Amino acid sequence: AVMDIDIVSVFPEYFDVLNLSLFGKAQSKGLINVTAHNLRQWTHDVHQSVDDTPVGGGAGMVMKPEVWAECLDELLDIEHIDEQNPKPILIFPNPSAPLFTQQDATELSHAQHLVFGCGRYEGYDARIPQYYRAHGVEVREYSIGDYVLNGGEVAVSVMLEAITRLLPGFMGNPDSIVEESYTGGNALLEHNQYTKPASWRGIDVPPVLISGDHGKVDRFRRDEALEKTSRIRPDLIEQLDCRALDKADRKT
Ligand code: SAM
Repeated sequence: AVMDIDIVSVFPEYFDVLNLSLFGKAQSKGLINVTAHNLRQWTHDVHQSVDDTPVGGGAGMVMKPEVWAECLDELLDIEHIDEQNPKPILIFPNPSAPLFTQQDATELSHAQHLVFGCGRYEGYDARIPQYYRAHGVEVREYSIGDYVLNGGEVAVSVMLEAITRLLPGFMGNPDSIVEESYTGGNALLEHNQYTKPASWRGIDVPPVLISGDHGKVDRFRRDEALEKTSRIRPDLIEQLDCRALDKADRKT
């Protein structure tokens, strides 16, 4: 089934770039159906305002709940959810939310309808996610990393790219997904990649890779992945399931 994706933003033109490259191909292949909406279309005042000053004081502006609610009531169509119209998942990027991971991308790649709300200014009124959660909508808030962006548009693009490349039929070669970093029960960083020529500007690829011995190649790559992960991301090693390690791993 085609995955419906609605994105709400005050800069919907930002998502024109989605028509490029693989993502555009996924649209034309009918795997996904993406619509970027302008939040201001749900305003009623001449200034089309979507923000107001923070209650309790402080700098900046906060996105108003009324405008978002008119928009989301329509896009989520919560009155008409049944077997034909499965529940959409509502996603808000937010720097003060749990980190978006490959695991989340995998889960979301099975959804039929995703609605993304891009925050701007100091963010959105916290009662918006609260309201839709209380009304039976699955709401997820995610940070894409420990830094602050100007708006949710880039974060949504990042999440969408991670999600849609997992859709069956998206990648030319589905195996390239299986072997990647952060994938599977033992999430290690991927081993280094090399292409031809075997010797380039005086640097040789590791000789085992041209030995033709698949067992040795697998072992070499696994050792490299373990070594890289312990050096660059020790936190991932701590999370590893011991059962995912084999006897030869313990030596390295
Ligand atoms: N006042 C907020 C804070 O300090 O946490 C920052 C708001 S930020 C300037 C505006 C919007 O950008 C957020 O509502 C969110 O949608 C998006 N955003 C910024 N950084 C993000 C990140 N690291 N991950 C996900 N979304 C982010």
